[in-house]
Amino acid sequence: MNLSVQILIALVLSVCAGLALGPDGLPFVNKWIAPVGTIFINFIKMMIVPVVTCSLIVGVTSLGGDSKKLGRISAKTICLYLITTAVAIVLGFAVAGIIQPGVGLDIAGKVAPKVKEAPTFMQVLVNMVPTNPIDAMAKGQILPVIVFALLVGIGITQLDEKRSRFLMDLYDAGAEVCYKIIAMVMKFAPIGVFALLLPVVCKNGPKVLLPLLSVILAVAIGCALQCILVYSTLASTMGGVNPVKFFRGMSEAMMLAFTTCSSAAALPVNMKNCQEKLGLSREVTSFVLPLGCTINMDGTALYMGVCSLFVANAFGVNLTSSDMIMIVFTGTLASIGTAGVPGAGLIMLAMVLQAVQLPMEGLALVAGIDRVLDMFRTCVNITGDGAVCCVVDKSERKNAA
Ligand code: ASP
Repeated sequence: MNLSVQILIALVLSVCAGLALGPDGLPFVNKWIAPVGTIFINFIKMMIVPVVTCSLIVGVTSLGGDSKKLGRISAKTICLYLITTAVAIVLGFAVAGIIQPGVGLDIAGKVAPKVKEAPTFMQVLVNMVPTNPIDAMAKGQILPVIVFALLVGIGITQLDEKRSRFLMDLYDAGAEVCYKIIAMVMKFAPIGVFALLLPVVCKNGPKVLLPLLSVILAVAIGCALQCILVYSTLASTMGGVNPVKFFRGMSEAMMLAFTTCSSAAALPVNMKNCQEKLGLSREVTSFVLPLGCTINMDGTALYMGVCSLFVANAFGVNLTSSDMIMIVFTGTLASIGTAGVPGAGLIMLAMVLQAVQLPMEGLALVAGIDRVLDMFRTCVNITGDGAVCCVVDKSERKNAA
């Protein structure tokens, strides 16, 4: 049976089992089932730094020191990422405008969670350059690893032919080994997905979800629309990939993102499948996808649109059109700064709420169901990376022809 179908079955089974067990089953599930999910996710996470480093070095070296091409790929990628993110946040507004989540909600007695400060733009720039690349790798910080791998790749292209060929082959073989390991680990994905999702369903049974169903619905519908309208159009018209093939190719990574709530965790599988199933070049995927996993968070942006309208509704605040423009602007920036790990978007939502002076207590409302919203948004986050990758790959092929 196809792996995506197996994962889907595991997903359905875990929802059924979670609903049947309910919160009473949580101690048992946490003790015996959840660790299996953690083992699976550790195996995948183990591959993030090696696969990003090796593939990116190979990608850059295969450009053969062509800095113009690297600049062109970066410019196209970043432009597309910004546009899709802004579209997502506007879509979030539109859906929330129709569904109107939070109208008439009782908000008494809720306490705001502690909010971390979002890093400033300059801080992000400074943090991108690692003082110690091994330390950045050990901490799993993707942006500094990208910068380091880019420089190593450029350095290799400046060596003499013999030594640069040797290093290219070495990293190429290293990337191949990573993909083989990822394929082995993914064989256990159905079990991993079941074990990851079961505690979530047990904990967030219908009792927790029902009062806030309208927010969940708005985020889910917005995410589905972003995939159906934006990504399938991008992939087919500008990327030359049939939408059915696109979503088939993306399905394993999407389900992994859905269950793990981490773009970073889904990255190795996304890179492997974009190359093997969608036929995109390693040169483009190895640059576009790791970058997207850290800066392109369309699902998170959409969620910010929905949630800010939800908080405004729940607290009876009227948003003006300039508030909305401000939300699109700060939401886009906040999503760029969001890390590809579970729950990161909630912290950044604080920044958006603050920008338009919406009550921070609104975060507490969202926090209760954030894990569920995170599933949808992370799934969209990595799908957006894949769609942009198709477009950049096609335009690079055209350039080469
Ligand atoms: N969990 C999301 C991701 O990994 C980030 C977020 O919390 O919005 O892409």
